[in-house]
Amino acid sequence: MRKVYYNSIMAHLFLWVKGKSTATFFGFICTKRKKTDPLTVEDINHEAIHVEQYMEITAAAVILAILLSPWIGWSAWPFILALTLFYVIYFVEAGISWVWHYIHRQKASTAPMNQAYYNSMFEMEAYANEDNTGYIPARKSFHWLHYIGKV
Ligand SMILES: [Zn+2]
Repeated sequence: MRKVYYNSIMAHLFLWVKGKSTATFFGFICTKRKKTDPLTVEDINHEAIHVEQYMEITAAAVILAILLSPWIGWSAWPFILALTLFYVIYFVEAGISWVWHYIHRQKASTAPMNQAYYNSMFEMEAYANEDNTGYIPARKSFHWLHYIGKV
């Protein structure tokens, strides 16, 4: 089970959406909640799946940055991009999804922003498997790609 950072400054700074108290920041599970109000096993498993997603994308991007650097020149930006690539993919997909749901509006009761969140490939993998504590050890790398384009 991954470590949870309770009453986290990162969570307090960046989680301003109502009802959101917990997120994964650069591979660390951070929550606004206090230790006296702990996360459930499912919550922790959900965030731990995001940690796996973050680690594999970052590892692949760092390897790519190292391989490309002799050609493009050694500089910091490919490595900074590598550390943030998970969030770039996450928010680009959410933006595209938000526009798609805004145009289509299949479920009028659900706001396009919420639909974009629940239809994120990263969230779909995490929600589909958060109840299964044996999921992460058995998980195939980059399994979030399995959910790409599913809405
Ligand atoms: Zn999530």
